[in-house]
Amino acid sequence: MDEEKKDGYENCCAMCRRTESQVGKLMKLPQNMYLCEDCLQRSFDMVSTMRPEDLGMKPEDFGMDKLPGNIHFLFPGDGMMQNQPKIKPKKKEKEENAASGMREAGDIMDITELPAPHEIKERLDEYVVGQDKAKKVISVAVYNHYKRVKNQNLPQFMDDVRIEKSNMLMIGPTGCGKTYLVQTLARLMNVPLAITDATSLTEAGYIGDDVESVLSKLLQNADNDVERAEHGIVFIDEIDKIAKKKNTNSRDVSGESVQQGLLKLLEGADVEVPVGATSKNAMVPMTTINTRNILFICGGAFPDLEELIKQRLTKTSSMGFNSMLRDAFDNDPDLLAKVAVEDLREYGMIPEFLGRLPVIFSLQGLTKESLARILVEPKNAITKQYQKLLAMDEVKLEFDADAIDKIAEMALARSTGARALRSIIEAFMLDIMYEIPKDPSIGTVTITADYISAKGAPRITLRN
Ligand code: ADP
Repeated sequence: MDEEKKDGYENCCAMCRRTESQVGKLMKLPQNMYLCEDCLQRSFDMVSTMRPEDLGMKPEDFGMDKLPGNIHFLFPGDGMMQNQPKIKPKKKEKEENAASGMREAGDIMDITELPAPHEIKERLDEYVVGQDKAKKVISVAVYNHYKRVKNQNLPQFMDDVRIEKSNMLMIGPTGCGKTYLVQTLARLMNVPLAITDATSLTEAGYIGDDVESVLSKLLQNADNDVERAEHGIVFIDEIDKIAKKKNTNSRDVSGESVQQGLLKLLEGADVEVPVGATSKNAMVPMTTINTRNILFICGGAFPDLEELIKQRLTKTSSMGFNSMLRDAFDNDPDLLAKVAVEDLREYGMIPEFLGRLPVIFSLQGLTKESLARILVEPKNAITKQYQKLLAMDEVKLEFDADAIDKIAEMALARSTGARALRSIIEAFMLDIMYEIPKDPSIGTVTITADYISAKGAPRITLRN
């Protein structure tokens, strides 16, 4: 037994405050100070990346013999410092985009001007194909949200009526554009966005990210600007995976308790968040973020939810003259749109959680027609991207309508929504992107349905 433990007290690390029994042997420093191995290593890492300027010294004064006190042992010698590689700082993404003309002028809306819902939807239409109902709901909800944020402190609105937040829950099969819709929205509105996966979240104290880590991501994406982060959007994907498990007595770490953990964030709370890291730790400075004006959007595929909706609908109409047959909704393609809070509760979402997501809407699975439109219509459609790439080689790329049809058909068969489109198109564009630059006489390449079905070659026209 260590002598310091005799009186019931243990030495602890001067930085992280963990005790010897938690972190193992501590290193004793002068003046009765103790450090654990982790903190010691971190101090070394930090000090060894310092430059002379950080210590208030000029580079020419910097040498083993000129360092103050007992810290020379932490520094490399003169020669090593002179060989330090130089790094060119990276341009901010916004500057880069502006420089390369990636964003056209006027692409971004100014939320301080608060665009009307129809304007928001029109902008979303340029990128997201179909999903009209979802785009309408999200435009109105976002408009209301930022209107509330903008006006809440005006004296004429400081009365007893408190407008609640319009957090949202999106339901739709995989690859139908849930994440893409939110990403496009945040980009157009120029607000920071953090995307997280509900399956990676755990209750505080368990291995995994605790729920507050999403706010650190948001803060990072807002360039550590707390005020900007407080008006941002958080998208929590795969929310159906934290549904309460049925018929289990074991402790449910990732499900119900994560929903419980999210409650206070969804509603609005002051949360201590580490700056520049996603985990709390003695070395990381903390800041406070208020989530009252952060818009939370949850998304999930909710497989088998349609069964529950069907059961409810047939149950309520199974008596009396108007009773329906059990299979009345079997072929209803729009069954998800009929979702009600009770179906989600039945699925395993807790009532308090659903209560904090007042806007619930669904997205439709993509049909062959919408997949074909996704290939060609959006402002940054995949086919347009390839056309631009080849235009740089002064080659014109065209797609026959039945080739587009064929790609959509193949994507539909994979059942992963629009996600399949890119992998299919990339596979057969590889040869073209490889061969074309070889032959400078090629003027136009047309992708045909035969080429897609591996029955023929693309049509090539030579330059005049
Ligand atoms: P999920 O619904 O699973 O979140 P995503 O939003 O990640 O699906 O969609 C995957 C990709 O498919 C997106 O990056 C986007 O390029 C494309 N996509 C999906 N749906 C649409 C759509 N309705 N309009 C345009 N592109 C879409």
